[in-house]
Amino acid sequence: MFVDIAKIKIKAGNGGNGAVSFRREKYVAAGGPDGGDGGRGGNIVFQVDDNLSTLADFRYKRKYVAPNGENGASGRKSGRRGEDLIIKVPRGTIIKEAESGAVMADMSGDEPFIAAKGGRGGWGNPHFATPTRQVPRFAKEGTPGEEWEVSLELKLLADVGLLGFPNVGKSTLVSVVSQAKPIIANYHFTTITPVLGVVSMGEGSSFVMADIPGLIEGAGDGVGLGHEFLRHVDRCRLLVHIVDAAGSEGRDPIEDFEIINKELEKFDPELAKRPQIVAANKIDLATDEQLERLRDYFESRGYEYHTICAPIAEGTSELINAVWNKLHTLPPIKKYETESIPLEMFEKQDDKGFTIKVIDDVYFVEAKWLLKILQRTDLDDYESLQYFQRVLISSGIIDALREKGINEGDTVSIYDLEFDFVN
Ligand code: GDP
Ligand code: MG
Repeated sequence: MFVDIAKIKIKAGNGGNGAVSFRREKYVAAGGPDGGDGGRGGNIVFQVDDNLSTLADFRYKRKYVAPNGENGASGRKSGRRGEDLIIKVPRGTIIKEAESGAVMADMSGDEPFIAAKGGRGGWGNPHFATPTRQVPRFAKEGTPGEEWEVSLELKLLADVGLLGFPNVGKSTLVSVVSQAKPIIANYHFTTITPVLGVVSMGEGSSFVMADIPGLIEGAGDGVGLGHEFLRHVDRCRLLVHIVDAAGSEGRDPIEDFEIINKELEKFDPELAKRPQIVAANKIDLATDEQLERLRDYFESRGYEYHTICAPIAEGTSELINAVWNKLHTLPPIKKYETESIPLEMFEKQDDKGFTIKVIDDVYFVEAKWLLKILQRTDLDDYESLQYFQRVLISSGIIDALREKGINEGDTVSIYDLEFDFVN
């Protein structure tokens, strides 16, 4: 079964906690603090693997958790960091944050993508020693790892997508013009997984042609197959629309052509505007009148039109050359721009509780929803910082700190963010 969409949960490892510990040596009555730092949590990393062609692996395994960092130990021993968890995906996979639909990454290239950052390890108590606080009885907890629900969507990377009803000869064409060997059979829906064929144009140049499972009537409304597969032509720069010139299955090729274009329009008007070259196949079975009617129809509508007999490669090199020339005039394969996850989403969450603990004049604030915002906020960026401050006020955290008796200059600690309180 071909799976081209999946939803999974990912959770990066938490940072290990810093340790509270004091040196104990012979003849030393009270040694200094020597608690080690916690280790960093493992990241969740996506990486393209060209051996994969579907998202089927994600149908059964839905949750991916990277290991936590270890806690620090006495003797200034740092905790070991958690290993990154690498998730392999087929090339062309789009990763979106599931709730907002924001594009996190387009896995078209080879660079790994860190989708969830591991939490930072907490500092051990030596970091908190000051001239007035020589015996720091606290250390920092590690920060939690990022946690997301993401949707994965496979959008094939092909220059040319083939359109056409089942059995018009799409697979046959790909098998004749490339090394790919899709299944060719005289029954419908034989092509279940898309096949990418590399069409070599000599001198090291080539383009990729995708044999996509047949579209059927009503596909744009989500009826039957088809709809699922329409998104595979989404990135194609050019569409080659194949019709059965002879109407050998009792269908009318012109009607078929119009049906598919209507489906495209319904699915995505942008896609309907994608340039199309028409190839009338099975000319060995067609009458002169049939061919004349088709030529009139397509040429009068301004389509570039070719006639082929795919199994014996008649007319296919002319078609391929026309495709190649057309590709030169078209923009490169669409890449999805990354979008930032709207942080306001977390502010709207129902459970917006928080806790404040006070230890040695340090005010520790904890709130799961706030952590999400903090993890995604670049505090060096003025506007982001302003936003974060507004959230602290609107959520009532600042008021709560005042109620707890915070004074100007006391330290506020929110996970790994620390600042002095200003009234
Ligand atoms: P697809 O469903 O569009 O991929 O169609 P296929 O490539 O699987 O072809 C469907 C059937 O039509 C197969 O039995 C092919 O051998 C046959 N076929 C494909 N092209 C031609 C052609 O030009 N002439 C004839 N007579 N049969 C063809
Ligand atoms: Mg086929």
